[in-house]
Amino acid sequence: MNLESALPEIIREATGTASPLRRCTPVGGGCINKASRIDLDDGRSFFLKSNPRALPRLFESEAEGLRALRQAGCLRVPEVVATGGGRDGLPHFILMECIAAGRPGPGFYEKFGRGFAQLHQQALADQFGFENDNYLGSTPQPNQWTSDWVRFFRRHRLGHQLKMARRNGLSDPQMDRLGQRLLDRLEDWIGHPDEPPGLLHGDLWGGNYLCDDRGDPVLIDPAAYYGRGEADLAMTQLFGGFDSSFYPAYEEVHPSAPGSQDRLEIYKLYHLLNHLNLFGRSYFSGCMRILRRYGG
Ligand code: ADP
Repeated sequence: MNLESALPEIIREATGTASPLRRCTPVGGGCINKASRIDLDDGRSFFLKSNPRALPRLFESEAEGLRALRQAGCLRVPEVVATGGGRDGLPHFILMECIAAGRPGPGFYEKFGRGFAQLHQQALADQFGFENDNYLGSTPQPNQWTSDWVRFFRRHRLGHQLKMARRNGLSDPQMDRLGQRLLDRLEDWIGHPDEPPGLLHGDLWGGNYLCDDRGDPVLIDPAAYYGRGEADLAMTQLFGGFDSSFYPAYEEVHPSAPGSQDRLEIYKLYHLLNHLNLFGRSYFSGCMRILRRYGG
């Protein structure tokens, strides 16, 4: 059976309301998966992503991240309807609320910055990590609960990516040496201030939010975990940054402590190492620039 013909039953089971499928329209713009808008005869619409060769639990972990972010109630997040597939000839899939697109309203980035800061202040966990491992793009992201932030970031973030770079033949002896020194001295750089775990989107760049038809921001495609907010803020700054009004609005709600510029560089390194591992050597020099400064 193909996914399209299975959808009415999947939707009936998940929502309790049956309707025939009217249309299935491909949506472009995704990096990895096939995306479609699903319209039913009864007027409801959904957003579907599918992939016959999805990585193990890829869509389930996306659903867990979306649910956690939505539950926090700080910014709009699509409601997950169902995940499944991977047997009976069905591709793996995630089905969620379809977000009608609009144009950023006045104060879009202020609202976004404030909501993002509120998310980081959600004291919903007493350790760093997440309920399950997930993915950063297609890189496995370990999330084992850890009481100490520096230990968590050393082992499950920077150490994990550095090990992968070595295994993938993308590092060199100098990167390995500087990386190890940075790991050894991480406490000096990111040990303070002592902030409790907050909920992070985990991969917030320009392609991972939408603007809905009310002109409000919507978070998609998370690599969610409980961590320190600056680790999330760093990704927003990595490739050109968001509109300049985003940052003062963030600061208003969640003011940064002295030393944040250095910490942000180290948090950016995690994402740059991930890009090195995903996309190759063109990210090597960007990684080395930060490693020389903080591991040298
Ligand atoms: P991928 O996981 O393959 O990177 P995305 O999650 O980025 O796919 O989705 C592909 C595109 O579909 C996005 O660029 C966005 O424009 C659109 N999109 C994502 N989620 C929704 C949604 N819930 N409702 C409507 N459109 C969406």
